Amino acid sequence: MKIAVTIKEVREQVNEWRKQGLSIGLVPTMGYLHEGHKSLITCSVSENDRTVASVFVNPMQFGPSEDLESYPRDMDRDAALCEEAGVDLIFHPEPSEMYHNGFSSYVDMDTLTGGLCGKSRPVHFRGVCTVVAKLFNIVMPDRAYFGQKDAQQLAVIQHMADDLSYGIEIKGCPIVREADGLAKSSRNTYLNKEERQAALVLNKALSEGKKLIEAGERNASKIKDTVTEIINAEPMAKIDYVEVVNWSLLEPVDNIDGTVLVAVAVFIGKTRLIDNFIVKADDRGRVYVS
Ligand code: AMP
Repeated sequence: MKIAVTIKEVREQVNEWRKQGLSIGLVPTMGYLHEGHKSLITCSVSENDRTVASVFVNPMQFGPSEDLESYPRDMDRDAALCEEAGVDLIFHPEPSEMYHNGFSSYVDMDTLTGGLCGKSRPVHFRGVCTVVAKLFNIVMPDRAYFGQKDAQQLAVIQHMADDLSYGIEIKGCPIVREADGLAKSSRNTYLNKEERQAALVLNKALSEGKKLIEAGERNASKIKDTVTEIINAEPMAKIDYVEVVNWSLLEPVDNIDGTVLVAVAVFIGKTRLIDNFIVKADDRGRVYVS
């Protein structure tokens, strides 16, 4: 496994692989890798001849009062996990390599980014779209892998790849959880013991929402109310949002119909955690929840 810090090094390696006719998968990450990231890497390794993982804490997707400085970093550990999981090349650039002096071009989106996380993180998706567009241009992969954990990001990147005709297959991978149900996240390291316990309320509330839908409930407000009530019963939790939206444009829906995302963002102390599930209702009224 190689570690590249410059765009030039990545391009040289990718060109060599392309000449040999090899397919390439890309897994973009901000590092401090865990089993969730590993599942994306494993999927890419199984579907492509070569896998590139990027490890880059992208300053552009953090707001001024967010956790850019304190975001956890451990490149040695990340490199070991990547090597074990079968990554061929890690791209680990400095911010100055990605954003040279005078950088002034952006990729942004008029739909999908205004609600959910975009509401409380107004610059976030412009930063995400710009960095992922750059990674796509640098690596030119056949496939790129994103977790359903960041469901809005997955929808936004699918939309961007389609709008801008990247010709890259965007693959969504299921949420990997701790044994007690908490969705794995690099930010879970911010939680103290009591907060870690309180954080279970996200999955607990979503599981009740799922149960209602599986029992036949189709009214989105009822799902939202149940999820909200359960989270509000946890004294350490403060809701940022509880939303039920369609998957195509991430707009609020009245009924569970077609593909629908039920998503929450909740502050546990100072740490903002997100979680979700996706429901697919077919025309015979059967539902599939993931
Ligand atoms: P991050 O390093 O947090 O930017 O995440 C990099 C990629 O890993 C994103 O596509 C995330 O959605 C994905 N990811 C993070 N946590 C999980 C998880 N628990 N399960 C599945 N994918 C995840």
